[in-house]
Amino acid sequence: MESFDFLVQGSAPEPYVVIFQKEHNKIIAHCTCPAGEMGQYCKHRFAILNGFSEGIISSNAADVKIISTWLPGSNIERALNELEKAEEEVAKAKKKVSAAKKMIAREMQGAR
Ligand SMILES: [Zn+2]
Repeated sequence: MESFDFLVQGSAPEPYVVIFQKEHNKIIAHCTCPAGEMGQYCKHRFAILNGFSEGIISSNAADVKIISTWLPGSNIERALNELEKAEEEVAKAKKKVSAAKKMIAREMQGAR
């Protein structure tokens, strides 16, 4: 099993400990932030998963690049793809909302 521990400076005075472990194609990650402790999505793990080292105060910050190489074929890859698709749909929906608001504004001005 491969394992990396990172110290991440979040909003609390004490840095959070983020642990990433990989065994075969299974990635497991823990974070000591309040959301992470409750088993919820947290931005610290997500950032590291995406190869971002911002906020990492431990000397191994460059190792986040290794974590992002774990993704292909992993248990998390499919969920990340679903998130990407959902975000594209949100972006499309926002454009539709914006266009509809412009239409309302035009109609209210009595434009023909
Ligand atoms: Zn966290």
